[in-house]
Amino acid sequence: MRKYVMMGVQGSGKGTQSAMLCRDLNLVHIGVGDILRWHVQQHTKLGAQIRRIMAGGELVSDDLVESVIRRRLADHDWNYGFVIDGFPRNGRQAEFFLESYDIDGVIHLDLPDSEVRRRVLNRRLCTRCGMDYNIIDDRPEVEGQCDVCGGQLTTRPDDTPEALAARLREYHDKTRPVLELFRRKEYVLNVDAQPDPQTVQGVIRARFGLPPYRPEPEMPVPSGA
Ligand SMILES: [Zn+2]
Repeated sequence: MRKYVMMGVQGSGKGTQSAMLCRDLNLVHIGVGDILRWHVQQHTKLGAQIRRIMAGGELVSDDLVESVIRRRLADHDWNYGFVIDGFPRNGRQAEFFLESYDIDGVIHLDLPDSEVRRRVLNRRLCTRCGMDYNIIDDRPEVEGQCDVCGGQLTTRPDDTPEALAARLREYHDKTRPVLELFRRKEYVLNVDAQPDPQTVQGVIRARFGLPPYRPEPEMPVPSGA
Protein backbone atom coordinates (compact mmCIF):
# COMPACT_ATOMS: atom_id res chain seq x y z
CA MET A 1 0.00 0.00 0.00
CA ARG A 2 1.35 3.40 -0.98
CA LYS A 3 0.12 6.73 0.28
CA TYR A 4 1.37 10.03 -1.03
CA VAL A 5 0.49 13.65 -0.51
CA MET A 6 0.94 15.99 -3.48
CA MET A 7 1.59 19.61 -2.57
CA GLY A 8 2.27 22.65 -4.69
CA VAL A 9 0.97 26.03 -5.60
CA GLN A 10 -1.77 26.32 -8.22
CA GLY A 11 -0.37 25.89 -11.71
CA SER A 12 2.40 23.59 -10.45
CA GLY A 13 0.77 20.53 -12.03
CA LYS A 14 -0.52 18.79 -8.88
CA GLY A 15 -3.51 17.26 -10.62
CA THR A 16 -1.48 16.11 -13.62
CA GLN A 17 1.30 14.59 -11.53
CA SER A 18 -1.19 12.87 -9.21
CA ALA A 19 -3.04 11.32 -12.15
CA MET A 20 0.22 10.14 -13.74
CA LEU A 21 1.35 8.59 -10.47
CA CYS A 22 -1.95 6.78 -10.00
CA ARG A 23 -2.37 5.49 -13.52
CA ASP A 24 -0.32 2.30 -13.61
CA LEU A 25 0.24 1.90 -9.87
CA ASN A 26 -3.45 1.33 -9.13
CA LEU A 27 -3.52 4.20 -6.71
CA VAL A 28 -6.68 6.24 -6.20
CA HIS A 29 -6.40 9.95 -6.92
CA ILE A 30 -8.16 11.95 -4.24
CA GLY A 31 -8.26 15.53 -5.49
CA VAL A 32 -10.10 18.00 -3.30
CA GLY A 33 -11.04 20.18 -6.28
CA ASP A 34 -12.43 17.20 -8.21
CA ILE A 35 -14.50 16.02 -5.25
CA LEU A 36 -15.98 19.47 -4.65
CA ARG A 37 -16.78 19.83 -8.36
CA TRP A 38 -18.39 16.40 -8.38
CA HIS A 39 -20.71 17.34 -5.52
CA VAL A 40 -21.74 20.53 -7.30
CA GLN A 41 -22.38 18.70 -10.59
CA GLN A 42 -24.31 15.89 -8.92
CA HIS A 43 -26.43 18.40 -6.95
CA THR A 44 -25.75 16.72 -3.63
CA LYS A 45 -26.61 18.40 -0.35
CA LEU A 46 -22.96 19.26 0.08
CA GLY A 47 -22.87 20.54 -3.51
CA ALA A 48 -25.67 22.99 -2.71
CA GLN A 49 -23.70 24.18 0.31
CA ILE A 50 -20.54 24.65 -1.78
CA ARG A 51 -22.48 26.51 -4.45
CA ARG A 52 -23.92 28.89 -1.84
CA ILE A 53 -20.47 29.58 -0.41
CA MET A 54 -18.96 30.26 -3.82
CA ALA A 55 -21.92 32.39 -4.96
CA GLY A 56 -21.26 34.59 -1.92
CA GLY A 57 -17.69 35.05 -3.10
CA GLU A 58 -16.32 33.05 -0.18
CA LEU A 59 -13.79 30.26 -0.20
CA VAL A 60 -14.70 26.77 0.94
CA SER A 61 -13.48 26.54 4.53
CA ASP A 62 -10.74 24.24 5.75
CA ASP A 63 -13.26 22.50 8.02
CA LEU A 64 -15.60 21.72 5.16
CA VAL A 65 -12.72 20.36 3.09
CA GLU A 66 -11.64 18.24 6.03
CA SER A 67 -15.06 16.63 6.46
CA VAL A 68 -15.23 15.93 2.72
CA ILE A 69 -11.82 14.26 2.78
CA ARG A 70 -12.53 12.27 5.93
CA ARG A 71 -15.64 10.90 4.28
CA ARG A 72 -13.80 10.18 1.05
CA LEU A 73 -11.00 8.31 2.80
CA ALA A 74 -13.54 6.34 4.85
CA ASP A 75 -14.82 4.79 1.60
CA HIS A 76 -11.72 2.57 1.71
CA ASP A 77 -11.86 1.89 -2.02
CA TRP A 78 -8.10 2.40 -2.24
CA ASN A 79 -6.74 -1.13 -1.93
CA TYR A 80 -3.31 -0.21 -3.26
CA GLY A 81 -3.14 3.26 -1.79
CA PHE A 82 -3.82 6.83 -2.83
CA VAL A 83 -2.42 10.15 -3.91
CA ILE A 84 -4.15 13.05 -2.22
CA ASP A 85 -3.91 16.61 -3.51
CA GLY A 86 -5.39 19.76 -2.04
CA PHE A 87 -5.17 18.44 1.53
CA PRO A 88 -4.05 19.00 4.28
CA ARG A 89 -4.57 22.74 4.26
CA ASN A 90 -3.29 23.68 7.69
CA GLY A 91 -1.10 22.39 10.48
CA ARG A 92 -3.95 20.88 12.48
CA GLN A 93 -5.19 18.86 9.49
CA ALA A 94 -1.65 17.74 8.77
CA GLU A 95 -1.33 16.41 12.33
CA PHE A 96 -4.61 14.53 12.08
CA PHE A 97 -3.54 13.12 8.76
CA LEU A 98 -0.19 11.93 10.04
CA GLU A 99 -1.81 10.28 13.04
CA SER A 100 -4.45 8.50 10.96
CA TYR A 101 -2.52 7.41 7.89
CA ASP A 102 0.82 5.90 7.29
CA ILE A 103 2.26 8.30 4.72
CA ASP A 104 5.00 7.11 2.37
CA GLY A 105 5.95 10.53 1.15
CA VAL A 106 4.98 14.12 0.56
CA ILE A 107 5.77 15.43 -2.90
CA HIS A 108 6.30 19.17 -2.97
CA LEU A 109 6.15 20.54 -6.50
CA ASP A 110 8.35 23.58 -6.33
CA LEU A 111 7.58 26.43 -8.70
CA PRO A 112 8.80 30.04 -8.45
CA ASP A 113 6.02 32.63 -8.16
CA SER A 114 7.15 34.21 -11.44
CA GLU A 115 6.49 30.93 -13.24
CA VAL A 116 3.14 30.52 -11.49
CA ARG A 117 2.17 33.96 -12.79
CA ARG A 118 3.22 33.04 -16.32
CA ARG A 119 1.25 29.78 -16.25
CA VAL A 120 -1.88 30.98 -14.53
CA LEU A 121 -2.29 34.29 -16.34
CA ASN A 122 -2.03 32.47 -19.70
CA ARG A 123 -4.52 29.84 -18.66
CA ARG A 124 -7.75 29.38 -20.55
CA LEU A 125 -10.62 27.18 -19.55
CA CYS A 126 -13.28 25.49 -21.66
CA THR A 127 -16.71 26.77 -20.69
CA ARG A 128 -18.28 23.47 -21.68
CA CYS A 129 -16.07 20.60 -20.48
CA GLY A 130 -13.65 22.34 -18.11
CA MET A 131 -10.49 21.37 -19.99
CA ASP A 132 -7.50 23.61 -19.18
CA TYR A 133 -5.29 25.24 -21.80
CA ASN A 134 -2.30 27.50 -21.69
CA ILE A 135 -1.95 29.89 -24.61
CA ILE A 136 1.84 29.65 -24.41
CA ASP A 137 2.61 25.99 -23.71
CA ASP A 138 -0.58 24.14 -24.46
CA ARG A 139 -2.39 26.04 -27.19
CA PRO A 140 -5.69 24.81 -28.61
CA GLU A 141 -5.59 23.95 -32.31
CA VAL A 142 -8.14 26.62 -33.12
CA GLU A 143 -7.75 29.84 -31.18
CA GLY A 144 -10.39 30.28 -28.49
CA GLN A 145 -11.89 26.84 -29.06
CA CYS A 146 -11.63 23.59 -27.08
CA ASP A 147 -9.91 20.70 -28.92
CA VAL A 148 -12.02 18.15 -27.08
CA CYS A 149 -15.57 19.46 -27.29
CA GLY A 150 -15.39 22.60 -29.42
CA GLY A 151 -16.56 24.74 -26.51
CA GLN A 152 -15.51 28.35 -26.06
CA LEU A 153 -12.37 29.10 -24.04
CA THR A 154 -12.42 31.82 -21.43
CA THR A 155 -10.22 33.29 -18.74
CA ARG A 156 -11.36 32.53 -15.23
CA PRO A 157 -12.67 35.71 -13.64
CA ASP A 158 -10.31 35.28 -10.69
CA ASP A 159 -7.19 34.87 -12.85
CA THR A 160 -6.16 38.52 -12.62
CA PRO A 161 -2.66 39.60 -11.48
CA GLU A 162 -4.10 41.12 -8.27
CA ALA A 163 -6.22 38.11 -7.35
CA LEU A 164 -3.34 35.78 -8.13
CA ALA A 165 -0.94 37.77 -5.93
CA ALA A 166 -3.41 37.47 -3.05
CA ARG A 167 -3.79 33.73 -3.60
CA LEU A 168 -0.03 33.26 -3.73
CA ARG A 169 0.38 35.10 -0.43
CA GLU A 170 -2.32 33.02 1.17
CA TYR A 171 -0.86 29.82 -0.22
CA HIS A 172 2.60 30.52 1.18
CA ASP A 173 1.22 31.56 4.57
CA LYS A 174 -0.88 28.43 4.90
CA THR A 175 1.43 25.91 3.32
CA ARG A 176 4.62 26.79 5.16
CA PRO A 177 3.47 25.30 8.51
CA VAL A 178 2.18 22.16 6.78
CA LEU A 179 5.44 21.62 4.92
CA GLU A 180 7.45 22.29 8.06
CA LEU A 181 5.48 19.68 9.95
CA PHE A 182 6.01 17.10 7.21
CA ARG A 183 9.69 18.05 6.94
CA ARG A 184 10.22 17.33 10.62
CA LYS A 185 9.10 13.78 9.84
CA GLU A 186 11.46 13.76 6.86
CA TYR A 187 8.70 12.95 4.43
CA VAL A 188 9.12 15.79 1.97
CA LEU A 189 10.51 15.30 -1.51
CA ASN A 190 11.14 18.64 -3.17
CA VAL A 191 10.74 18.42 -6.92
CA ASP A 192 11.44 21.17 -9.43
CA ALA A 193 8.10 21.55 -11.22
CA GLN A 194 9.45 23.62 -14.13
CA PRO A 195 10.36 20.82 -16.59
CA ASP A 196 7.70 19.07 -18.67
CA PRO A 197 5.26 16.76 -16.83
CA GLN A 198 6.95 13.51 -17.86
CA THR A 199 10.33 14.67 -16.61
CA VAL A 200 8.81 15.74 -13.29
CA GLN A 201 7.03 12.39 -12.99
CA GLY A 202 10.29 10.59 -13.75
CA VAL A 203 12.04 12.39 -10.91
CA ILE A 204 9.26 11.56 -8.44
CA ARG A 205 9.30 7.86 -9.34
CA ALA A 206 13.06 7.55 -9.28
CA ARG A 207 13.25 9.16 -5.85
CA PHE A 208 10.60 6.84 -4.40
CA GLY A 209 12.01 3.76 -6.12
CA LEU A 210 8.84 3.28 -8.19
CA PRO A 211 8.68 1.69 -11.66
CA PRO A 212 9.25 4.22 -14.47
CA TYR A 213 6.27 5.98 -15.98
CA ARG A 214 5.14 4.55 -19.30
CA PRO A 215 3.39 7.21 -21.33
CA GLU A 216 1.47 4.82 -23.60
CA PRO A 217 -0.88 2.17 -22.28
CA GLU A 218 0.62 -1.24 -23.05
CA MET A 219 0.21 -4.85 -22.01
CA PRO A 220 1.81 -5.61 -18.67
CA VAL A 221 5.21 -7.24 -19.16
CA PRO A 222 7.17 -9.07 -16.48
CA SER A 223 9.68 -6.68 -14.99
CA GLY A 224 13.29 -7.75 -15.37
CA ALA A 225 14.59 -5.29 -12.84
ZN1 LIG B 1 -14.18 21.52 -23.92
